[in-house]
Amino acid sequence: MSETLFTKIINREISADIVYEDDDCLCFRDINPQAPLHVLLIPKKPIPRAIDATTEDQALLGHLMIKAGEIAKQEGYGEAFRLVVNNGAGAGQTVFHLHIHILGGRPLSWPPG
Ligand code: AMP
Repeated sequence: MSETLFTKIINREISADIVYEDDDCLCFRDINPQAPLHVLLIPKKPIPRAIDATTEDQALLGHLMIKAGEIAKQEGYGEAFRLVVNNGAGAGQTVFHLHIHILGGRPLSWPPG
């Protein structure tokens, strides 16, 4: 599979405004923010879509969920934020490297569009 934009960000071939990094994940600001807080949290492992994760990825996905909350809190939105994962083009996924959108800082209506 060819390298995605997000792998290029992990490898520093493309610049990004990074807010958190550890051995397993990277978080950076979305280039087209949909809310005052809009960052993308990605595993460094290039899992294309949520549906492609396996039980082997269980600890990694748990790590991402814990970090998502910590990052929302660190950014000042720990009391009200939304996590979004688009799976597949029909759901709006445009970059095929699993990512969690972390959104906050404005009213977030339900149901989402
Ligand atoms: P999705 O539509 O769920 O696949 O989300 C992909 C997200 O990546 C979109 O919100 C884009 O705005 C964002 N994006 C695309 N290119 C970049 C980039 N170079 N740096 C940061 N975010 C990006």
